[in-house]
Amino acid sequence: MLRPVALLLFLFAPLSARAVETLRIAIDDTGSEVSIKGKGLGFGPDSEDATYVPIPTDVATVRRRAGKLEVNGAPVVGDSVRFRAGVSAAGDAGVPGSEPLKAGSTQVRGDVVVRPLRDGLQLINVIPLEEYLAAVLGSEMPVSFPPEALKAQAVAARTYALQKKLDTYSNAFHLGSSVLHQVYGGVNREDPRTRAAVDATRGQVLTYELAPIEAYFHASCGGRTESGQDALQRDLPYLQPVDCPCGRLAASRWSASMSDAEIKSALRHPAQGMRVTSRTSTRRVTRVTLGDGTTVDGVELRRKLGYTRLKSLDFEVERTDGGYQFSGRGYGHGAGLCQWGAKALADKGRGYVEILTHYYPGAELQHLY
Ligand SMILES: [Zn+2]
Repeated sequence: MLRPVALLLFLFAPLSARAVETLRIAIDDTGSEVSIKGKGLGFGPDSEDATYVPIPTDVATVRRRAGKLEVNGAPVVGDSVRFRAGVSAAGDAGVPGSEPLKAGSTQVRGDVVVRPLRDGLQLINVIPLEEYLAAVLGSEMPVSFPPEALKAQAVAARTYALQKKLDTYSNAFHLGSSVLHQVYGGVNREDPRTRAAVDATRGQVLTYELAPIEAYFHASCGGRTESGQDALQRDLPYLQPVDCPCGRLAASRWSASMSDAEIKSALRHPAQGMRVTSRTSTRRVTRVTLGDGTTVDGVELRRKLGYTRLKSLDFEVERTDGGYQFSGRGYGHGAGLCQWGAKALADKGRGYVEILTHYYPGAELQHLY
């Protein structure tokens, strides 16, 4: 099943091995000043093999003045500056990720790049992919899930991040701020169980025709996953509906009551007469029609009524006294790996490779490094 990763190597040919394994995550936009702290702090240009100048106080104040950057009052050459902890007094570059850095109020592993934005400063965390995964895995799946489910999630998250990186190759960063908060929240919540799952699958990614797949995942599908096309407008061969054991779990059922006033405020339209008028092949709602004939797209309806209340589009809706009762199954968009399904399969003794190929049919597991 493991094949050489020819296309990946071709794509990454201009980069060093280190560059393949790092992610750039936009953490924060700040005002015109930010403080960076870390044991053995050093700074240098934003490149993988830069020489870092030690900062003896281990604290740097970065200021933006007339569109240029200053570090502790001294102007910086170039339009960005990169910080790393663990740099020795002799200027040894250290190992990114071995010492945490504090950038503003957030603690991160890896390096921090500061660059000027139109008004203010942007912080980018440059973090080894495996460190990133160890930090975020606990935010993405309960750490109490069985090891094979955590391993499946680790491979899916690694593949997802790598695919995003390829997609945004020459940009200043690869992943945006919604993920960055997971990273920062996650760094202090690293757990031996997530670390073990990441280490056991180190460098393993899912590919289709030798390119990393778009490894979408969700909490619970409710019994059958959704196609990539219907869930996310991504018509991909490995994102097709498959049966899932999570449908038997009581936890996959949900209900929500909403008053006419709440719905009217969310939709900016009276809700009376709401009924489902179109569903996908897996019976997820794609359209509701209101009493006056106005239609609302399913995805739009979920966004407006709230993702945590309308947990999925696999629902029935009934009129109540003064409102509506939604009864549904699953949590999330339903495409790709189902986390509760992965847990159920792992509980039955299935391994992570089997779990992954169940939810991403036709995808292959490969060792990138
Ligand atoms: Zn499921």
